[in-house]
Order: sequence, then C-alpha cells, then structure tokens
Amino acid sequence: MAKRDILILPDKRLRLKSELVGAVDKEIRALIDDMFDTMYDAPGIGLAAIQIGVPRRVVTMDLAKKDEPKAPQVFINPEVTWASDEKAAYEEGCLSIPEYYEEVERPSAVKVRFLDLEGKPQEIEANGLLATCLQHEIDHINGVLFIDHISKLKRDMVLKRFKKAAKRGEPVRPLAEDKEPSHHIG
Ligand SMILES: [Zn+2]
Repeated sequence: MAKRDILILPDKRLRLKSELVGAVDKEIRALIDDMFDTMYDAPGIGLAAIQIGVPRRVVTMDLAKKDEPKAPQVFINPEVTWASDEKAAYEEGCLSIPEYYEEVERPSAVKVRFLDLEGKPQEIEANGLLATCLQHEIDHINGVLFIDHISKLKRDMVLKRFKKAAKRGEPVRPLAEDKEPSHHIG
C-alpha cells in the first residue's frame, strides 16, 4: 500500500475518460488500497482513480465524520441509472483543485449501479452528501470536473490561477474570499 501523488489542475490527464474495469483482480485491489491511503492522507471524502493518474473506472469514498469510525466504500464501474428532477446545491471542493470551493447544483437523488469488491453488481439509491459525492466522482471518471458546472466567468478565473501556479511550480495561493469549506468532496 502506498500514498500516491494527486493530479492537480490543469493536468490534462484529469480530462481523460477512464476505462471500464473488466475483472476485480489483484491489480485493481492494489489500486483501491493506494486510493484509500491517498484519500485518507489528503484528507478527502472521495477519490477517483484518475486523480492518481490511473484511467480506470474506480471510486473510493468515506463519508464518516471525524469522530465516527471509518466507513470505506468502493464503487467499480459506477453509472448513474436514474436522477431526480429535484435539485440540491452543495458547496463542493476537489482534491485536484485545492483551496477552491463553490456551490454546485445537481440532482438531489440518484440511483447508481456499480460492482463491489467481489465483482458483484449492486445498485443503490443515494441522496444528500452521498448523491453529491457519487456524481462528483462519476464526473471524474468521465473527464468532467466540478468547475464545469459553474459559470464560465468563474471557471476561467480558476483555470487562470491554476495555470499560473503550475508555471511558477508553486501551490495555488488561496483567494482572500475563499471560505472554510463545510465539507471536502473529492
Ligand atoms: Zn474531485
């Protein structure tokens, strides 16, 4: 098990469409172990494999609060099969876009089909933070980032900041107006 580097905007690999997992084998389980190590260390509540540079459709998550026992969840080849008409807005953040938080509106409930660690098909209906986090991570495996859901003006501003920082080889300086996040997504 090992902690891996998280890709940061504007890394082009974040725009890749990840490939389906054929079999949940030793290689995939090792990948999942690394993803949990990386996610807990960050810390974040969700991570997609592409965020550590592996373009496979694998998502790890743990929505337990600080004082609660760990509750790791794994979603392999996750796919939204139904989304509610009702929308909910959450302040999202992303481990690949550090120090930036913005409200994003998404369907408030979704049904998601996926394979579990044994390779068995499962389907869950999610709402609240789980629904938001699942949609955020499924976006990642399709090469979509949460800033794609905000206004072009704000997105261009974020991209500019991260491109400048990458050029300087420094982390992005937080804006004075950035608030403390209510929760990190992944
Ligand atoms: Zn993210």
